[in-house]
Amino acid sequence: MPMTEMSDPSARSGGRLHLYDTQTRSIKALEPMDGKTYRFYCCGPTVYGPAHIGNFRTFLLQDVMRRVLELGGMKTRHVRNITDVDDKTIRDSQQAGKTLKEFTDYWYERLKKDAGSLNCLDPHMEPGAVAHIPEQIDLIRSLIEKGHAYSTEDGSVYYDVSSWADYGKLSRLKDRQITTDSSPSTAQGGNRSDSDEYEARDSLADFALWKARKPEDGDNWWDSPWGQGRPGWHTECSAMSAKYLGKSFDLHSGGVDLIFPHHENEIAQSESCHCVTFAGHWFHIEHLMVDGGKMSKSLGNLYTVEDLEKRGFTPMEVRYVLISGHYRQQLNFTLDSLKAARQALAKISRFNQVLKAVAGAGVPDAWKTVVKKRIEPGGWHFFGAAWDSLLDDLNTPRALGDVFSAIRKVEKSMAAGELSQEQILAAATELGHVLGALGLVLPEPEPVNAPEDIRQLADRRWELRVAKDWEQSDKLRDELKEKGWHVMDGREGYQLVPLPGTVTGE
Ligand code: AMP
Ligand code: ZN
Repeated sequence: MPMTEMSDPSARSGGRLHLYDTQTRSIKALEPMDGKTYRFYCCGPTVYGPAHIGNFRTFLLQDVMRRVLELGGMKTRHVRNITDVDDKTIRDSQQAGKTLKEFTDYWYERLKKDAGSLNCLDPHMEPGAVAHIPEQIDLIRSLIEKGHAYSTEDGSVYYDVSSWADYGKLSRLKDRQITTDSSPSTAQGGNRSDSDEYEARDSLADFALWKARKPEDGDNWWDSPWGQGRPGWHTECSAMSAKYLGKSFDLHSGGVDLIFPHHENEIAQSESCHCVTFAGHWFHIEHLMVDGGKMSKSLGNLYTVEDLEKRGFTPMEVRYVLISGHYRQQLNFTLDSLKAARQALAKISRFNQVLKAVAGAGVPDAWKTVVKKRIEPGGWHFFGAAWDSLLDDLNTPRALGDVFSAIRKVEKSMAAGELSQEQILAAATELGHVLGALGLVLPEPEPVNAPEDIRQLADRRWELRVAKDWEQSDKLRDELKEKGWHVMDGREGYQLVPLPGTVTGE
């Protein structure tokens, strides 16, 4: 398989990632609007318990998106907020007998641990809502001054959805013929919701920007121009994204449940305050399901990384499963899919070991040094289809399929003795690049049982090597190679790696 004959599909996409944008309902290329750094904001977790693997599906797809951008040579700025004050964090911290800070710090640390074990890159910034109360108050004040918000007698502040003609443009509320009948357009306070998580029912509701202090809030209140209280959930993302990314930035992301009302409300707050487009692209990830239903605490079908580790699965197997579905489709989670992931990772690991063994010392474990390892468009020879699948609307399932197709082809060519050392090195580097984009760290390959005669030959060679009889030991190395086995020497002993096409003793 001469390298020049392999086509390089990534050259066709210009090496740029294209993604579906919920706002325009079209696939768009991702380009930094300032020409330098791709700035994006991901709505992060509410830290009142362990994140479940549904949450991590969303965080992992965002992670893969970032890795693909960076491997494509783009600088990124990734901000993910931490919701550390809301009804749930207050309620559960009180039940646990802890201060809000003690409680949310604990769950934040747990999030970091789980995200780390899943090989998620740390966001560049992880601002929390409590540390940004002044910024949120400034935003609310400005919205009142501009006529988009109003305070009520109890000292709460609401966003007046009738004041913003574009309200609903992301979720296309108007297309769904949702009326404002029960929310008179003239009225401030016709129909209001101070629940952060109301659903898109039949009517629009003004939503809380600031919630007046209630007895059940305990010590969790702050002073404001409208009295003591705390910010509504939607307020934090508008305030913190403006602070860390600017009033207008490249991309905003979250699970599909956030499209309405959360992201709709963020757009209304930010655009009516700053009068510029809030986010240039909206990237939403469909839900992880369990047995056909949504993963949720109340149904008792919620899994955490820790739960799955207790059942004997590794976080990397969890990562593999969570990225194995396309982000625009729901993914049904099963324990069997984890078993399949184990086999898939083992297969790639074995192949990678062969490449490394044959190509020699020059092959780094590229996926561990992800951002340093770049392949320019036009530079792909073996795994270009997998890279192109990633660029094509982050098609992770197709990319994984392409990896296995490429493995089969390379193995076949190696078995036929058609690949040069240089080509094998290129294949190893490309595989590392794709694994780096997917964030997959390979497990140690399982040792392979070699037939008795091969083991005897390899033992003899090891003894010669220990005796420093290089000439004879090299001779036996060549003999083993002819019989289809590569010897990898370690300090304490050797390992036999079957070359593609070799019949093993398994
Ligand atoms: P939360 O802590 O509930 O605010 O969620 C944090 C992130 O996880 C948000 O982007 C949610 O949209 C997302 N999310 C929640 N449940 C799921 C699920 N079952 N599948 C995928 N993403 C989810
Ligand atoms: Zn948000």
